[in-house]
Amino acid sequence: MVKMDARCVNCNKKAHYNIEKNNIVCQHCGLELSYDEYIEQMKEKATSLADNFQASWDKQGFY
Ligand SMILES: [Zn+2]
Repeated sequence: MVKMDARCVNCNKKAHYNIEKNNIVCQHCGLELSYDEYIEQMKEKATSLADNFQASWDKQGFY
C-alpha cells in the first residue's frame, strides 16, 4: 500500500493519501474523500479561509 501525507480539509491534521485507491483518509476525524473531492474541498477551504478565516473560526472552529 502506497501512502502519502496530506492535510485533512476537515480537521487540518495529517491525513493519508492512498495512491492505489486514489482517496484521502483522515484517521483523526474519519474523513474519507476521493482525490477529486479532496482537491475541490481544498480549493473551497482556501477561498473561505482567505475571506473570513477569523469569523468562521470563532463561530464553528474547523467546521
Ligand atoms: Zn481530519
